[in-house]
Amino acid sequence: MFHLLLAACLANDPAICAERLLPAADAPDQQDCQRKAEPIARDWLARHPDLKGGEARCVATSELPALTVTEIADEVYFHQGAVEQLSHRNQGRIANTAFIVGDTVAVIDAGSSRAEAEALYAAIREVTDKPVSHLILTHMHPDHIMGAEVFSEAGATIVASARLPEGVARRVDDWMMSIPRQIGAQAFLGTHIASIDQKIDAPMTISLGSTELMVTPVPKAHTDNDLLIHDSDSATLFTGDLVFRGLTPSLEGSLKGWLDWIAAGPPMPDIALVVPGHGPVAATWEEAVAPEWQYLEALRDTTRKAVSGNMPLSRAIPAIVSMMKPFSEGWADFDATTAHNASTAFSQIEWE
Ligand SMILES: [Zn+2]
Repeated sequence: MFHLLLAACLANDPAICAERLLPAADAPDQQDCQRKAEPIARDWLARHPDLKGGEARCVATSELPALTVTEIADEVYFHQGAVEQLSHRNQGRIANTAFIVGDTVAVIDAGSSRAEAEALYAAIREVTDKPVSHLILTHMHPDHIMGAEVFSEAGATIVASARLPEGVARRVDDWMMSIPRQIGAQAFLGTHIASIDQKIDAPMTISLGSTELMVTPVPKAHTDNDLLIHDSDSATLFTGDLVFRGLTPSLEGSLKGWLDWIAAGPPMPDIALVVPGHGPVAATWEEAVAPEWQYLEALRDTTRKAVSGNMPLSRAIPAIVSMMKPFSEGWADFDATTAHNASTAFSQIEWE
């Protein structure tokens, strides 16, 4: 397959440039791709007025920069993000992403930038030419969703919780300012938020022909718009950030809801593999959730202590971080994320 790469620079800072992949021009041969290049590039630039376009060229799949993926089960491919917070060094590539190949391809999460999603798309095209029919967003956080537009342009239906659009709308202006500062303007170049085509408010099945994905919304836990995805063929469970491994869990939904979700046990009887939102794949449900459960229980207990001691929030945050220290082993970015969690948990437990 051949793919269109368009050189583009920021309209307000012509020193910041990168080549963007426009999947709408994908073609079986180079001439075909070249024929489509001009109108597709013109149309795309009209929808990206923050950019000025340059030269366009068509290249073979093997020439595209691609994410490294591992086949973790038959026809299930996984890319593990860096177990870190967003930085210039990791270019924002911190969230896990995956894709499942049936008669069509479903992608799970799209990364923090258009460039990351393009590299994921290239990894898919190294494996298969089958159409990408679905992109499922596990939840609203920008490290998981900002690349979605690439898959929309590739023809995929964008699937997310019915509560996601509202959460994104409240935050997206901040993200468009803050993420380029965190990962670099070049790494973020051309990133625009995509709209959701299919909103999920009850369990539903997505058919890929040879396999089926069960998509289940979860009550408020990590956020208020978390989805679980279960692949029937491989019995792989994709949890998004309902499960963190290695990177300190970050709380934005409900601490009680998250603990209740874990305490309820495996959400499906048939789980052969658990793919978390951050960190390595786990072989069992228990292996996946045990460290996170310990962390969240400790967060609840230490926050209760601070609340019952009538500490003001300003003193409670460092006190909770210090009481949590014995639980810090094995968690990246422990202090900063725990301080943020302490503030969220404090306001929730105060109201208990
Ligand atoms: Zn998240």
